[in-house]
Amino acid sequence: MSSGGCSIVWFRRDLRVEDNPALAAGVRAGAVVGVFIWAPEEEGQYYPGRVSRWWLKNSLSQLDSSLRNLGTPLVTKRSTDSISSLLEVVKSTGATQIFFNHLYDPLSLVRDHRAKEILTAQGITVRSYNSDLLYEPWDVNDEHGQPFTTFDSFWERCLSMPYDPQAPLLPPKRIIPGDVSRCPSDTLVFEDELEKSSNALLARAWSPGWSNANKALTTFINGPLIEYSVNRRKADSATTSFLSPHLHFGEVSVKKVFHLVRIKQVFWANEGNKAGEESVNLFLKSIGLREYSRYISFNHPYSHERPLLGHLKFFPWVVDEGYFKAWRQGRTGYPLVDAGMRELWATGWLHDRIRVVVSSFFVKVLQLPWRWGMKYFWDTLLDADLESDALGWQYISGTLPDGREFDRIDNPQVQLLLYIICLNIFISLLGKTKPHYELHYPVDVMNYEAQTPPNTTPTLTQRHR
Ligand SMILES: Cc1cc2nc3c(=O)[nH]c(=O)nc-3n(C[C@H](O)[C@H](O)[C@H](O)COP(=O)(O)OP(=O)(O)OC[C@H]3O[C@@H](n4cnc5c(N)ncnc54)[C@H](O)[C@@H]3O)c2cc1C
Repeated sequence: MSSGGCSIVWFRRDLRVEDNPALAAGVRAGAVVGVFIWAPEEEGQYYPGRVSRWWLKNSLSQLDSSLRNLGTPLVTKRSTDSISSLLEVVKSTGATQIFFNHLYDPLSLVRDHRAKEILTAQGITVRSYNSDLLYEPWDVNDEHGQPFTTFDSFWERCLSMPYDPQAPLLPPKRIIPGDVSRCPSDTLVFEDELEKSSNALLARAWSPGWSNANKALTTFINGPLIEYSVNRRKADSATTSFLSPHLHFGEVSVKKVFHLVRIKQVFWANEGNKAGEESVNLFLKSIGLREYSRYISFNHPYSHERPLLGHLKFFPWVVDEGYFKAWRQGRTGYPLVDAGMRELWATGWLHDRIRVVVSSFFVKVLQLPWRWGMKYFWDTLLDADLESDALGWQYISGTLPDGREFDRIDNPQVQLLLYIICLNIFISLLGKTKPHYELHYPVDVMNYEAQTPPNTTPTLTQRHR
């Protein structure tokens, strides 16, 4: 065991041992202390929601056991100020270097900049790396060196970059542990008793953690990927990757996803499988949207608060708490919207298509402020991700240069068929998780009085909201 001069690897949303550049740098430099700091108050109103905290708890547990197997535990700290906690860990371990991976949400950008300044002033060597993106936002510019303002031009540039995204790194063979004898871990509490019982069933449908993320990736690549181009919009079966919560917490690297999927594409191209090739293009485009969400956040750090198109800044949104409540509770009277909102509350999940329908209804029909909807998604989604959430809501609200026109709407009545599909997926999800949620569903869809909200409020509403 080293007695000083070690490196701290500061884990955040890069909860994996594989293809983790900060961890690799720490291992190369000598003895390592791995640290995770839980300081949710720093996130202000973006304190993580219940299901997201459940995911984090389980992901950290798998990371800790993997790090232990390699030679060192994960030190956990409860804090209200990450930088002060880092300084304490430096002091108690005698560390001389800190390595971490970049984040691009506005709160992290400010905090990480401050961390670098303060730690460097204390004589600590600080190095940071890209582990979350194919290309750093500052490397993707137009011919005038300016950031792109539409997704298509951004993505075209990414795909035609002169160099491929870096190949993923293997996990370290072993880690030399730093001395943590004077740096005890704090017990982190991610859920209260009430939340625990609500969360208990999540584990039947989801498996957080970096090795489970790899399993999910393999399952997708060897299964639904080939038909992604034709099936991805179907909300009634497992046609997409379900990787978003894994990607949010950095349990699998996007570079690894890119490389494995590209290998498959080359294989299909050699076989003359055009559909497979097309599926990979579309799947990579989805990954590209995630990249773009970070690109926008980096270039417009206020994008989770203000529309990117200035002329919609003063749009007279309807500030109606009653409408907002009916939407949250799935009591708008529109079957598809209501099924989606109830599914979201009960499972923490929504297919992308249904996200589009419920958010479109929110801003185009109810004309509620999109930031309310964005915050509710943040509070309830398993894959709650500030950058993707903001991109989704700005896109739907038509407040991006290439967003949907403000008067375009996905008519929830016209999409009744889709509702039936949504209902099926929800029922199958409940089947999978053996319902403890007592939902009252308008199962007889054809006789459903679309304009009349159900008379009874779902039990779940009374119990949880
Ligand atoms: C209003 C709204 C809010 C959203 N909020 C979030 C959010 O908080 N967190 C989140 O991860 N996604 C969000 N999305 C994007 C998208 O709905 C989910 O990423 C997707 O449904 C996750 O399912 P999947 O992993 O099976 O996706 P796949 O279809 O398998 O796609 C693969 C990956 O690409 C990325 N991706 C796909 N579509 C998008 C997109 N439109 N924007 C950004 N990344 C995308 C995700 O990381 C996803 O895991 C939102 C979309 C809308 C319309």
